[in-house]
Amino acid sequence: MAEMPIPFLASGERYATNWIQALQNALPEERIVAVHVLSHAERIDAALAIVANPDPADLAMLPNLRWVHSVWAGVDGLLSGLAERQLPVVRLIDPRMAATMAESVLAWTLYLHRDMPAYARQQQQKIWRERPYRPAESRTVSVLGLGALGSACARRLVQAGFRINGWSLERKDIVGIRCFSGRAELPAMLAQTDILVILLPLTDATRTLVDSIFLATLPRGSALINFARGPIIDENALYAALNDGHLGHAVLDVFAVEPLPAEHWCWHHPSVTVLPHCSGPTDRESASAIVAEAVRRYRQSGEIPASVDRAKGY
Ligand code: NAP
Repeated sequence: MAEMPIPFLASGERYATNWIQALQNALPEERIVAVHVLSHAERIDAALAIVANPDPADLAMLPNLRWVHSVWAGVDGLLSGLAERQLPVVRLIDPRMAATMAESVLAWTLYLHRDMPAYARQQQQKIWRERPYRPAESRTVSVLGLGALGSACARRLVQAGFRINGWSLERKDIVGIRCFSGRAELPAMLAQTDILVILLPLTDATRTLVDSIFLATLPRGSALINFARGPIIDENALYAALNDGHLGHAVLDVFAVEPLPAEHWCWHHPSVTVLPHCSGPTDRESASAIVAEAVRRYRQSGEIPASVDRAKGY
């Protein structure tokens, strides 16, 4: 058993217990404890913490941390809580999460591709009418973000027969995907998009990226899926584009305020599908195994895994 316990920090008490158990199972040689259980001396000595959406005040109790490992893939909230502290932040990169996200993206792309929102409306009105069928090969899906999640989703969509565009900061070269990069190439990609899938991190550069000009560049009747972060979309611009019919439908899993407030227009808009941030859940067991590997490497060699680029924000 290692002498120095590893603190675990999370905002919710109940799910902290489950995480501590899963991490302890993956790291039987370590002692994983809730930060509040540490003595004052242990807090001072802690060099590494494992975090899930931590309260910044709890992180401040650990002044000598050398790095933190997050069990979430998105780090926008964590980075803003650590704005004053240049601490390396390692985020979760888990192939299992990428596979789950790819399955979600495929499911909701097919929902839009096969006109399910329109058939649901027809059923409400008892309308028996076949809608025109378009093969997947004639439908272009553009994926914003070709990172750990976006690239897995794009590949899954290629397998399903869609024409796929992908957009990233640095140009990628992925078989079967037409790759675009940088702001200058974005309008050309948007102009030939039937379904847009958003899998970008939330950063200064991506906040309200999807504004009225962006939406107007999409062809009339196109649809979007946002599985990344709510504030990437300007909600007022989205509302206007949906009301005007320029945008046919939006599948939204993420929102500026979560849970989505009961009075929010998205709940009852006929062209919006609301999901409760469920598209790419972290798998506690596989995430714990990945964290365990990083902790062991650090214990053996002092090596801190590749961390988030604080300047880029992801
Ligand atoms: P990632 O590996 O960091 O990939 C981010 C991608 O976005 C990269 O391809 C990056 O380009 C691109 N990008 C970033 N800023 C850009 C910009 N300004 N212009 C163009 N491209 C830009 O992230 P990930 O693991 O795929 O996760 C993406 C996001 O999904 C997370 O940040 C999180 O917010 C969200 N997420 C949501 C859920 C859910 O359940 N809804 C679950 C997990 C994650 P480069 O490759 O050139 O760097």
